[in-house]
Amino acid sequence: MPVSPPNTTYSALLLVAGAVCLLVAIVVFQTRRSAAGSLALIGFLLALARWDMTYAMFWADVPAPTSFFWLDITYIGVVAAPAAAFVFSLQITHRARWLKSPLLALVYLEPLLVLIILFTDAQHGLFFGGRRMENSAFIQDGGPVFWFNVVFSYSLILLATILLFRSFLRSSELYRKQLGTILLGLSITWLNSIIFVAGVNPLPGADNTPFSFTIAGVAFAYSLFRYHLLDIVPVARDILIEKMSEGVLVMDVQNRLVDINPTARRMLNLPHAVLGEPVERVLAHWKRGDREALIQPNAASEFELAGKTHMEVQVTPILDSRGNPVGRLVVLHDITKLKKIQKDLLVLASRDSLTGAFNRGHFMELAVWEIQRAKRYKRKLTLVMMDLDYFKKVNDTYGHQSGDQVLVALANTCRQVTRQMDIFARLGGEEFALLLPETSQRNALRSAERIRSQIEGASIVFDSRAFTVTISMGVTELGRQRNDTLEKMLHRADRALYRAKEEGRNRVIPWKPEMG
Ligand code: GH3
Ligand code: MG
Ligand code: MG
Repeated sequence: MPVSPPNTTYSALLLVAGAVCLLVAIVVFQTRRSAAGSLALIGFLLALARWDMTYAMFWADVPAPTSFFWLDITYIGVVAAPAAAFVFSLQITHRARWLKSPLLALVYLEPLLVLIILFTDAQHGLFFGGRRMENSAFIQDGGPVFWFNVVFSYSLILLATILLFRSFLRSSELYRKQLGTILLGLSITWLNSIIFVAGVNPLPGADNTPFSFTIAGVAFAYSLFRYHLLDIVPVARDILIEKMSEGVLVMDVQNRLVDINPTARRMLNLPHAVLGEPVERVLAHWKRGDREALIQPNAASEFELAGKTHMEVQVTPILDSRGNPVGRLVVLHDITKLKKIQKDLLVLASRDSLTGAFNRGHFMELAVWEIQRAKRYKRKLTLVMMDLDYFKKVNDTYGHQSGDQVLVALANTCRQVTRQMDIFARLGGEEFALLLPETSQRNALRSAERIRSQIEGASIVFDSRAFTVTISMGVTELGRQRNDTLEKMLHRADRALYRAKEEGRNRVIPWKPEMG
């Protein structure tokens, strides 16, 4: 059965809806004022309250100065609601910067113009086009401005729906719940329009739009209360950036410092850096190369600051929504400790901890490389192999610790006698090797002899007991023929060393073919 005014039930429903909007607006204002989108939402709810309540007056047949008075002032809410809903959707989807666009003035201006035209309709008929009838609850057919406003309002709601949906698809799960609630609210308004267009209105003659909008408004508010993430996240983000152990810098396209967190200030020693100044000036005391490392786009590099702080720098371009660069984000990570550990690990992996000499594995790698080099450039290369004499006896007589001391003393002696490029290694136990690049066997024999005599002449003191040790050595030169290898050289040096032991120890013996 068609409904027509006066109708107290319909009027009462409208009053309830209006009261709900008013109440929710007050609660939002009192508790969630700082949340993103809250002011637009309050505007939306107030527009709806006005819509619901003045429309209720019309349906209750409350006396008015003119017969269209209630309907006319209802329009204030009708035109303001879509604009407020649109602004709310921009704010909640983090598109608040759109609000600064001059195009957006249209969103605010349109309701105003429409209202002026509506209130002066008697003079020109642009709004109702003379189709307004006494006692009709709402008009579905008006003049050009009426239709313009219908199209404009639905375009705003459609745009808001699209923006919300796009954000919904891109959001994390938590935001999805919030945006989903808002979309659900909006879908009620769409459902209402479909019902209207399809002509299946359960209350023919009455307009359900105020109810559908009221439901949407309540859904929006619910989303702010239930999932009030939007107001937590920016604060959390600020705290995170302020407190994080990484240094963060933001620069604009002209390389001006736009933001810097306390960690970056400390790391870069810039307690007084001024925002807005070009980085070149802020870091004027830096080396040019370091400065460039900091502003190189897309780079991930490492650099050493003042010779002690190692820093990993990640530079990420910041693009606007159209993909144009607007600046860059620089994240600094202090890797000084990591670098030190890396260095220590490298030493650990390549050196013997007792004597500091290279270990066997590292010696083999270096030796292979030196042999290749000596062959390619036709350079001399000599290998000396050493073994302490009667070392077991040293251990047995003076103890294992004194034996260790002997090994350290031997290593120190070798380091003193040899050059930087020589490779000294502990092959295992009390057996050592010395590889001498660019050195003929004759010269190597001389160095070996010096080591031998120094060891022989040194007095080792342990536990206030002094003793001496001797050492035997075997020496061999890289063969002139191309097929000489490290294995062959080690074998020859070992044979010569064996001969040195045989001949009475404490001597240096060069390899000869008859030794095998
Ligand atoms: P030779 O003159 O024939 O070489 O007699 P030697 O007693 O030195 O015999 P050999 O070379 O076989 O002896 C190896 C000894 O070196 C065995 C072990 O007691 C000692 N040794 C090996 N590694 C270490 C070490 O790290 N510290 C100490 N103190 N002794 C070690
Ligand atoms: Mg030995
Ligand atoms: Mg020995």
